[in-house]
Parts: sequence; structure tokens; C-alpha cells
Amino acid sequence: MSGLVFVVSGPGGVGKSTVVAELMKRDRQLWLSRSWTTREQRPGESADAYHFVTRAEFEARIDAGGFLEWTNFLGNYYGTPQPQPPAGKDIVLEIEVDGASQVKQQHPQAVLIFVLPPSREEQRARLNARGDDERKVDQRLRKAEEEEPVGIALADHVIVNNHLEQTITEMLGVINEARRTASM
Ligand code: 5GP
Repeated sequence: MSGLVFVVSGPGGVGKSTVVAELMKRDRQLWLSRSWTTREQRPGESADAYHFVTRAEFEARIDAGGFLEWTNFLGNYYGTPQPQPPAGKDIVLEIEVDGASQVKQQHPQAVLIFVLPPSREEQRARLNARGDDERKVDQRLRKAEEEEPVGIALADHVIVNNHLEQTITEMLGVINEARRTASM
């Protein structure tokens, strides 16, 4: 991997996917890794949001050393295939904190951006809006309580996703600053 690595992490319902989708539109030098998961596709979720696989397929890829990082998150596997970005591109990974910590260990120069929700109420509203049932929403909110202190401690930058446009501006600022530093 010759380009920079940006890891965007944060609890469920924080708006990571929306933020990352916007970054990809606005910065053509970024290349988004597509994760594998054993989670079921949500109703209305794009078929290429993930590479959706069975547990057997996922485990075979673990055994083959095919993941940069992987984890078990609330009963499902999620993993980043060994990235193969086109030349000149910087990699973006949108992953949870355990995976972020694995990436940081292997690539200490990776830039970890941890995104926080403006409030638990707002986070719950966002989780509800994407169609998960109440039990899953509660599970993810409890998981968020665990993830946040770990993510904040690990992060190079912490950004509260209050207003999308402001969050994007801050993220692009972090990305461009990292490029400037890397080229010095
Ligand atoms: P969701 O089920 O909401 O799509 O994802 C659950 C969590 O797993 C989110 O925090 C998401 O960012 C994270 N995630 C998605 N892909 C990966 C991956 O490849 N590796 C890791 N470690 N986490 C991932």
C-alpha cells in the first residue's frame, strides 16, 4: 500500500456511511475499500454496500490470510480484504474500533478519524430510521457506550457529526493536512 490510509470509525447510527459517501464524491484521490460481512442485507440496503457472504466463505478467507483486519461485531463477521487500490489513490476504511485498532497496529501511520453522534437521542433516531428493529437498536446503543472511549483514545481526530456539511469540511481538512505532512 503506497498511498495514505484513512480509517473512519464510530458507533452505529453516527452517519459514517453518509459522510464517507460524500467524501468519495468530493475527493477523487480517495479509494473506498468494500468490506465483507456475514450480516444479512437490510431491506433497502444497496447490494454493493458490502460483499455479503456466508460464514463458511468468510472463514475460508480468514484461513487464507485474505483480510487486512476482521472482527466479530454483534454476532456477525466483518472484514477488510487486503486492499489493492489503483496507483496514486489513498485508501478509506469505514470500520468499527476493533478493526481500526488492528489497522493502526499494522500501519501506525494510518490516520484514524473517530466520528461521534451529537447525542444519544439523535443516534437512536438515525438507527430507527434505517429500519433495524428496537432490540437491534438497543444493542447497538449499548455497543456504542463500549466503543466510544476506546475509539476516542485510539483516534488521531475526533469529529462530532452535528451538521453534515461541517463534518465533511473538517474531514477534508484532516485528509489534506495528512497529505501535506506526508509530502514534506
Ligand atoms: P453495519 O452492520 O451497521 O453495517 O456495521 C456494523 C459495524 O461494523 C459498523 O461500525 C461498521 O463501520 C463496521 N464495519 C463495516 N465493515 C467493517 C470491516 O470490514 N471491518 C470492521 N472491523 N468493521 C466493519
